[in-house]
Amino acid sequence: MKLQEYHAKTLLLRQGLPVPAYSVAETAAAARLAAAPYFGAGAGRVVVKAQVLAGGRGKAGGVKLAASPEEVEQVADEILGMDIKGIAVRRVLVAPAAEIAREFYLACVLDRTEQRVLFMGSAEGGVEIEQVAEANPDAIHYVHAHPHLGLLDYQARWLGFEMGLGDHIRDFVAICRGLYLTMITNDADLVEVNPLAIVLDHVPDATARESLQCLDAKITIDDSALARHPELEEMRDLDEEDPVDVAARQQGLSFIRLDGSIGCMVNGAGLAMTTMDLIKRAGGQPANFLDIGGGAKADRVAAAMSLILSDTAVKAILVNIFGGIARGDEVAHGLVEARLQQARHVPMVVRIVGTNADEAARILADAGDPDVKTAESLDQAVDMAVAAAASAGASG
Ligand code: GDP
Ligand code: MN
Repeated sequence: MKLQEYHAKTLLLRQGLPVPAYSVAETAAAARLAAAPYFGAGAGRVVVKAQVLAGGRGKAGGVKLAASPEEVEQVADEILGMDIKGIAVRRVLVAPAAEIAREFYLACVLDRTEQRVLFMGSAEGGVEIEQVAEANPDAIHYVHAHPHLGLLDYQARWLGFEMGLGDHIRDFVAICRGLYLTMITNDADLVEVNPLAIVLDHVPDATARESLQCLDAKITIDDSALARHPELEEMRDLDEEDPVDVAARQQGLSFIRLDGSIGCMVNGAGLAMTTMDLIKRAGGQPANFLDIGGGAKADRVAAAMSLILSDTAVKAILVNIFGGIARGDEVAHGLVEARLQQARHVPMVVRIVGTNADEAARILADAGDPDVKTAESLDQAVDMAVAAAASAGASG
């Protein structure tokens, strides 16, 4: 699950990281009100930032500076409703603008291969790291944290010196510790600060002083760990998630859309993988991964069917159910019901074995739907589905 910048910054602040003050507004008038105290406290400019789950907002015109409350209202009005990478902006973050001397990149990611948290740092901050990785890979420095001890101070110092942050090394080491804690405490798989900036602070005696500040934050939480973070689940932004993913999660279905033409309904992750492999071997392309789980009841079968059919690329459906706890008759009832509910009729091949398989076959036969065929074996079912998808693809 991706977090919006303002939520990500909340998590950084909890670990004591240096993040400039900010507020969130949903209207231009509210943005102006939020900015007033920052100007009152002496800020020369205020930054207004689109809150969408996409990178590159700056380039897209979603990050703007304003020199007065009136101008904040004006730029907030421009940004709210803006379309950034297909997402409508509904909220802006308002913060006193930092006076940036230099921008850096710093991130922690879960390195699954090494089974450790990997720190990545670069003096080429501000731009997207993928661009740096392509144009100038040597400009990114990497170091793995210890699985129990975290990132040791000498490692953080090494990274800081590589990045050219020698003058700020104490602050940098503290920031690395904070990032690591943010990662571990929240079961994040990515915590990215871009830019981490050297900022000029104007203190009352008029001599400018430098400090390191986290000006942007991107965090993704490991979905499998969300069950133990109800407070993070509340940060989920349903408006920006694929409605198909939302529906699947609400039904307790594991559903991943792929780009083929054969919709798959299977119980068990292993069986789903096998089914997809067999479809590929037979020359077809699966349209999705779908595990309806154990003990699938009729209503979940119907919900799964509407998820599959919401993908217009689906030309045929393969149902492969191994009846154990899941009863074949229950699944068959669900299928018949789902067919009645659906406006779009796609040829379907059903293979149900195990508990009450005979009853399932009878229920499907009684329904008398000419587009529903049953198969004796999995190989036969796969061949039938691939052929059905191919002929549907050829005719339409
Ligand atoms: P992103 O483009 O979605 O990654 O959004 P960022 O929050 O990283 O902002 C993009 C760029 O806007 C940054 O790299 C900065 O150059 C600039 N920016 C962001 N916040 C400030 C700020 O407080 N002051 C100034 N002067 N520039 C900022
Ligand atoms: Mn950024």
